[in-house]
Amino acid sequence: MHMNFKFKIGTKAFFGKGCIESNKAVFKEFGKKAFIVTGNNSAKASGALEDVVEALKECGVEYRIYDRVLNNPTLENVKEGGELAREFGADFIIGIGGGSPLDASKAVSVLACNSIEPVDLYKNIFENKPLPIIAIPTTAGTGSEITPYSILTRNDMKTKKSFGNEDTFPAVAFLDARYTESMSRQTTVDTAMDAFTHALEGYLGKKSTPVSDILAVEAIGIFGECIDSLLNNRLDFEVRERLLYMSMLGGMVISHTGTTIIHGLGYSLTYFKDIPHGRANGYLVREYLKYNYEAAGEKINNVLKLLKVSSVDELGDKIGGLLPCDITLSDEEIEMYAGLAMQQRSTSSNARTVVLEDLGEILRKVFKGEGN
Ligand code: NAP
Ligand code: ZN
Repeated sequence: MHMNFKFKIGTKAFFGKGCIESNKAVFKEFGKKAFIVTGNNSAKASGALEDVVEALKECGVEYRIYDRVLNNPTLENVKEGGELAREFGADFIIGIGGGSPLDASKAVSVLACNSIEPVDLYKNIFENKPLPIIAIPTTAGTGSEITPYSILTRNDMKTKKSFGNEDTFPAVAFLDARYTESMSRQTTVDTAMDAFTHALEGYLGKKSTPVSDILAVEAIGIFGECIDSLLNNRLDFEVRERLLYMSMLGGMVISHTGTTIIHGLGYSLTYFKDIPHGRANGYLVREYLKYNYEAAGEKINNVLKLLKVSSVDELGDKIGGLLPCDITLSDEEIEMYAGLAMQQRSTSSNARTVVLEDLGEILRKVFKGEGN
């Protein structure tokens, strides 16, 4: 097979305990005024805000905090953040939190310096270059600190949609696993599942490259190492650090490959049923792997080997142990979710070429217990 690929990660990442403290001068590189974008709890609970504020004070950088980012941020939400950042005259943006605040910070960085409506973010061409972003994750899942993507809730379309281009990669990411220690076990599991599915979908999908495969294999192997710790709730610092590393690798993978149908289907579970993003993905893994086996059997066998399980069902049972699922969907819901996922761009990069009926069937198997 010919090798033909592009490779770029537009983010400079600092990884390790105390990485903000040891690299404080970075905060001076981007200007005099920082606009901090975060949720109402994560920045404080994780201790990240305190470290950032200390670094900013030491660097003589003025700052303002916007802490009203919602889970699964909406267009309306980022509009407000963008307006306040512009009013403040921000030189750069600091995103602190899970994927929700980090994704919001990307939208804010564009809106702060472009007079456009949030819906125009999806044009992906901006007159003025977005403000530089420093991203600090407090969950270990989305990898948003190292991807260009910003996934926003589109109430007008009843789904979530992503925008992003080469200029929306955060300029800098600080990854310190101490900031993930305050996460609940449930959010830890949910977000770990998100990171795993990034690696999995990227690895099996049509856009995979030799480089993304190396990253994906490493991430999947780490998930295999950590799955029993997640099951037994043994989440010491070492495990947290491995999970954060996995999440970063997953972000690097999807920066090149995008996601596929797990994400496409999962968005409806989040939008209509309020199921956290990573958990929604986790529910779908078993049937996703069965569905794709005919198109990507060799790679799926390698995944099973990396995870030290002997079959897709053994993996499905393990994930079921982590994420018990008691959700059922009506036929109308299944039809609607399948239709919405079919419209996601990422569906076309799935390993096996997808038709609408396939998506309905996957959902029926997971949420109506058919075929089990
Ligand atoms: P999240 O929605 O950012 O956060 C979930 C919850 O966990 C929030 O209540 C949050 O509090 C809390 N939390 C976060 N960190 C915490 C900590 N250290 N201690 C205590 N509580 C903490 O969850 P997420 O799974 O990280 O992000 C999901 C979002 O990312 C979705 O919108 C998804 O579509 C998107 N996503 C983006 C990408 C990408 O490439 N950009 C990839 C996958 C998913 P707060 O209320 O304070 O925030
Ligand atoms: Zn995801």
